[in-house]
Amino acid sequence: MEAKLRTYTVGEVCDGFVYNELEGKGLYGLSGRLTIQPEYQRNYIYADGKKDVAVVQSALHHYPLGVFYFNMTGGNRCEVLDGQQRITSLGRFVTGKLAIIDDNGIPQYFSSLSTELQERILKTPLLVYECEGTEDEIRKWFETVNIAGVPLNHQELLNAVYSGEFVTLAKAEFSNSQNANVQKWSHFINGAVNRQDYLERALEWVSKDHIKEYMSQHRHDADISEMKTYFNCVIDWIGSVFIEVESEMRGLEWGRLYETYHNKAYNPAEVKQQVNKLYGDPYVKNRKGVFEYILGGCKDKRLLDIRIFDEATKRKVYQRQTAEAALNDTSNCPLCAMGHEANRKKMWKLAEMDADHVTAWSKGGETSIENCQMLCKTHNRAKGNR
Ligand SMILES: [Zn+2]
Repeated sequence: MEAKLRTYTVGEVCDGFVYNELEGKGLYGLSGRLTIQPEYQRNYIYADGKKDVAVVQSALHHYPLGVFYFNMTGGNRCEVLDGQQRITSLGRFVTGKLAIIDDNGIPQYFSSLSTELQERILKTPLLVYECEGTEDEIRKWFETVNIAGVPLNHQELLNAVYSGEFVTLAKAEFSNSQNANVQKWSHFINGAVNRQDYLERALEWVSKDHIKEYMSQHRHDADISEMKTYFNCVIDWIGSVFIEVESEMRGLEWGRLYETYHNKAYNPAEVKQQVNKLYGDPYVKNRKGVFEYILGGCKDKRLLDIRIFDEATKRKVYQRQTAEAALNDTSNCPLCAMGHEANRKKMWKLAEMDADHVTAWSKGGETSIENCQMLCKTHNRAKGNR
């Protein structure tokens, strides 16, 4: 990748500045050559009367404004990779959309400044790296550069690198807080629409977790129907299996679960009962695991993180078993005691034994002292594998 360092003045960059009040974004500069807010950029967030004013004050006082990065997109055109917020603040000031407060506490618009101060702002140099390179190069470079302000997250970076028609359409669907479906989706998806978390899930699901490849492949598509259809399939499938929404459903790996289980048949009424039963079970520590546990046919207990016996219980049961075993001259592991091998009379230490449910949890056995027995580690493991 090539990055040329050059300087523009504030006047040059703000020439032809257009600000979209409705969407709150700066659009163009450099006499139309510069796109200030390409589709991958987040909206203008400096318009708080502090950050935006600070940018203008910096120009007035010759304070450094930092480095800017432009991406050369061909035909002498470019777009802002980094610096969008600062340029928009300057543009809004120069075009009379923003006032600063002077030393006497009076709001001052650009037009009310002295010619000398106006000139000072317009002639302020901006240090710009103009970058040209392949997608991959720009992505790598983008990930290394320390972006000022709120750093772009992973999906925002990918949107930047693969910007084009596809990203524009995808964002209109999945990054649009006005989309009436967002409410429904938010039951299953974590994060924020405007930080691209929904778009990231949609891409992750349709691409089977190969987002980058998918975006690269579809970059110039004027159509997102494959992604949209797949996304809606996943969402509809969740709703058809689990008829009630639980807060723990939010943020699960629904794409993977759909791929693994969508060909299996479920009885939603039965599933609902299973969910309720597990939610009411005080020994289930991980409610997020309930859904995959049910989808998988209620086999993998590890997903539920079943509450285990505490140390005091284990010690009590160990003492009781060991005392009885000493009286009967047998091993304190009841399974060893029944055997015919060398361990028949072996007295295990507490550290050599594990706690076991006499009646398995999956068969309704409680994690209580009455249902606890200590087994030597070998026998406990053998029992656990059944
Ligand atoms: Zn044993």
